[in-house]
Amino acid sequence: MKPNGTSLNTRSNGHHLNFDVLNELTVEEIGDDHMASSLETPLREDAFALTDEAKIERIEEHFREIMNILGLDLTDDSLKGTPKRVAKMYVKEIFSGLNPDNKPKAALFENKYQYKEMLVEKNITVQSHCEHHFVPILGRAHVAYISSGKVIGLSKLNRIVQYFAKRPQVQERLTVQIANELKEVLQTEDVAVIIDARHLCVSMRGVQDVNSSTVTAHYGGKFKDDEATRQEFLRHVSEPTAAI
Ligand SMILES: [Zn+2]
Repeated sequence: MKPNGTSLNTRSNGHHLNFDVLNELTVEEIGDDHMASSLETPLREDAFALTDEAKIERIEEHFREIMNILGLDLTDDSLKGTPKRVAKMYVKEIFSGLNPDNKPKAALFENKYQYKEMLVEKNITVQSHCEHHFVPILGRAHVAYISSGKVIGLSKLNRIVQYFAKRPQVQERLTVQIANELKEVLQTEDVAVIIDARHLCVSMRGVQDVNSSTVTAHYGGKFKDDEATRQEFLRHVSEPTAAI
């Protein structure tokens, strides 16, 4: 699918995949397969041939070797459990969104209240990892949709964001993957996603800019075609969050 309406506004030294360039190319020029491999997380066909337990064992071995090469003493009490901890964290936590078995099942409800306006879920925590450096991307997502007759539980919006964040990612792809999932689940094109995030690969290394953040947005349906709808969404996003 062509990532129409996806924009990237980077205030950092954007070294990531640029979807604006892809937007300029037609599907024919790129080829359906190539396009899909840009929007889909690049996974091998045998990605789930190993069980989680087997993956943890192998990652543990390899991570121990990395630590060894760095010269760390793995007989030290504090370090000896680290390879196993890292391996478990990769498979069961921070990269658990690679496995489609972990995809949140979003039950749809009838829109009994006939609420036809925009629903905005803002300030959803985003904790992902840059696939170029394997260090965190930390920020917030704001998502919105206009019901086509179906609604989903509010927490499902957060869970969908979290699921796609728990992969090695580039922020542009994360934005589009969340938008596409919302479109599919909610059976509407009227979906908007904004992510504002800090990349630790920009702040901790490289240019070492601790102040910049990267904003990506995807607008579908009415959010793309109707200026007033998009402005309403942006207004909600910029308003202070209700105090509790
Ligand atoms: Zn990076």
